[in-house]
Amino acid sequence: MSAETIGVLGAGLMGHGIAQIFAAAGHPVVMVDADPTAFDRARAKIRQNLDLLVEYEWLDADAADAVLPRIGTSTNLAALRPADLIIEAVAEDAEVKREVYGKLAPHLRPETILATNTSSIPIRVLADATGRPDRFTTTHFFRPAYIIPMVEVTKGEHTSEATVTRVLELLRGAGLRPVRINVDLPGQVANRLRQALFREALDLVERGVISAEDIDELAGLSFGPRMPLMGVIRDRDLVGLDITTKGAERVWPDLSNAAEPHASLRDLAADGHLGLKTGRGFCDWSDVDFAAYWTKLERQQLEIFGALRRADALPRD
Ligand code: NAD
Repeated sequence: MSAETIGVLGAGLMGHGIAQIFAAAGHPVVMVDADPTAFDRARAKIRQNLDLLVEYEWLDADAADAVLPRIGTSTNLAALRPADLIIEAVAEDAEVKREVYGKLAPHLRPETILATNTSSIPIRVLADATGRPDRFTTTHFFRPAYIIPMVEVTKGEHTSEATVTRVLELLRGAGLRPVRINVDLPGQVANRLRQALFREALDLVERGVISAEDIDELAGLSFGPRMPLMGVIRDRDLVGLDITTKGAERVWPDLSNAAEPHASLRDLAADGHLGLKTGRGFCDWSDVDFAAYWTKLERQQLEIFGALRRADALPRD
């Protein structure tokens, strides 16, 4: 049986990596973007990613060279017609996504599954615009998608069981580690966890409890490195549930339950200090080259995932 065709709508920071993963797994891939200049950037980044994978011995050179020829590109939504699964990775804006789904719908075969890579939009806000709410789900990848294997697949109110099962199978077949999410919530699960930790961290900084630099080091070098080994919940079995209950009784009443982002975050964003991409966010990045910094982070993540494998610390391998 020939491999399923995968469509990727949006060839930006996420789309190119998603296309690369499926092409590396032997699928024909069609990548569509409204901006024709996106494809050269996407191809150059995929080639750079593949070179890194070869350097770190995750992929051999022949397999790497076979990836780009499997990826077709087009600015025309009709090119997605052969796709069995389309992963949408356009801007994180519900109106933009709904509009493109409306234009895409007439081109799709009835059986095609559509999945969104949204980070935080609940899919109930998008589902009716697809014309196929039963064949609509999420495939939420993490950046860099070609290194991080986890993907969140959400069963929306109208998503069929068959759709979730099929998408999980396709992702597993491409070497990924999808998790099924049973309820359609803003931020799915991973970004809810990150937001909860970030809210508390920002609260502590605003209360003058600790500096931002120290909090990052503390999280990263105390409980952080054990997370891939013990997770969030299992780790409590290690600590002991008696101690955990007592700790929760003391600490939870004092934790931030702010329902709106803190002023320090809002003010920075309103002043155009958006982080690395503008040279300033919580920290000063003005001397840092954005692209070079990302490449360094990608290399560091390749090292870390490699080390986790060698430490037998990816429990479901
Ligand atoms: P991006 O801006 O890098 O890329 C979006 C691409 O979509 C662009 O190339 C743009 O030309 C194209 N596009 C926009 N409107 C279009 C349309 N109507 N038709 C066709 N193409 C169109 O964005 P990104 O960072 O890749 O994010 C894409 C999605 O993935 C968003 O929903 C985002 O929240 C999610 N996401 C991003 C990250 C991340 O770290 N960047 C991580 C996980 C999920």
